[in-house]
Amino acid sequence: MDLTIEGNAYIKGTFVNCCVGIEEGKIAAIKKILKGDKHLKFEKKLILPAGIDIHVHFRDPGFVHKEDFYSGSKAAAFGGITCIFDMPNTQPRTTNINTVLEKITIANNKSYIDFGLYAAITDKNIKSMGELSKYCNGFKIYLGSTTNSLQLSEHKLENALYQIAALNKMTLIHAENEQCLRENKGIAHNLREHLYHHPSECEETSIAHILKICKDISSKIHICHLSSCGGFELLRRRPKNVSVGVTPHHLLYDISRITSNETLYKVIPPLRSNLDRETLWQGIKNGDIDILESDHAPHTLEEKEVDFDKAPSGVPGVETTYPMFLAEVKKEHISFTRLISLLCERPAELMNIPKGELEVGRDADFIVINYKETEKIKSDKLHSKCGWTPFEGMDAIFPSQVFVRGEKLIEDNEIQVSQGFGQFIGV
Ligand SMILES: [Zn+2]
Repeated sequence: MDLTIEGNAYIKGTFVNCCVGIEEGKIAAIKKILKGDKHLKFEKKLILPAGIDIHVHFRDPGFVHKEDFYSGSKAAAFGGITCIFDMPNTQPRTTNINTVLEKITIANNKSYIDFGLYAAITDKNIKSMGELSKYCNGFKIYLGSTTNSLQLSEHKLENALYQIAALNKMTLIHAENEQCLRENKGIAHNLREHLYHHPSECEETSIAHILKICKDISSKIHICHLSSCGGFELLRRRPKNVSVGVTPHHLLYDISRITSNETLYKVIPPLRSNLDRETLWQGIKNGDIDILESDHAPHTLEEKEVDFDKAPSGVPGVETTYPMFLAEVKKEHISFTRLISLLCERPAELMNIPKGELEVGRDADFIVINYKETEKIKSDKLHSKCGWTPFEGMDAIFPSQVFVRGEKLIEDNEIQVSQGFGQFIGV
């Protein structure tokens, strides 16, 4: 064995005092006693699978003043995330083979952690899906107009999903009905008005439509960032191939909780009511929701601190998701079993990657935490280029060590590998 680690590790749903043996970056054995060339003992700490964030916007290329693969992957690493999947609304947009390959090259040079990426399917490139599918990990479809719009008209969705099913690709959908958004359009001066312009009805209409047309489709369809109680109710009776994600900001905030700096919390879909928020919590607790995804979408404070209507939508989150929800586990708001399913096991299963569990044959991606030490989130200790967090002051348990493919990625508050250590996970 190249390396053996010893401690209280989360194996198949429970904590076991054991040794994990690592060879060539993979978990080679899990036994009571193991000896390796190098042996690390983590007494009084917990060893957990590292997180996988299937929804980030690292802004690279095109908006590198907000974030890039260097700063974004560093932030992810410090937050216990060893693999991310990047969204296509960069500049140039990730909509053809050249821009997909360009992004892979950029990330290969800069990323500390492993990565995959999505290509967008729009009205314009729908014919080139077959070719594109050989280079990306999945397709992102925006049904409603969003930042740096990459829209696919709803009447083309059914045909697109049939084609994607034949290619056996995963599809991630931003579900907001464009017609409904148009009917509710207007200038917003605050979060409440922003919510009026993105009513739950737009999400519900879109989800109802997706559920109607996906009946005979076998490939995986993921509904991103579910935000409404009504959408949740519709998705309770979804087919097996349809999964659902929720973000930390929709779980931790609702409009009644934000009384100042409202532009900072402007997101799409919007923060909704306490009832919506509590419904999403029920979903993550009982397993109706599959995935916790950060939708890490950084903007600088200069960009955010303008008139509400002009402020861009999105908040950073890749570094704080796992640590904040470990603190929620400690407060017994959610179990370890559920959190690790939401952030490690289900993402690995959906993306079909050998990570997300401490199991023989999988990548040795894990984090070490001191479960006793809760700290407060402080933006000056975080690593995103944007320099702020919507979760300032919240409780979190940050990992003391992070390993990716058996290599020490974080220790003593320092990155231990060089830029470009992260690998494209392949398609
Ligand atoms: Zn997003």
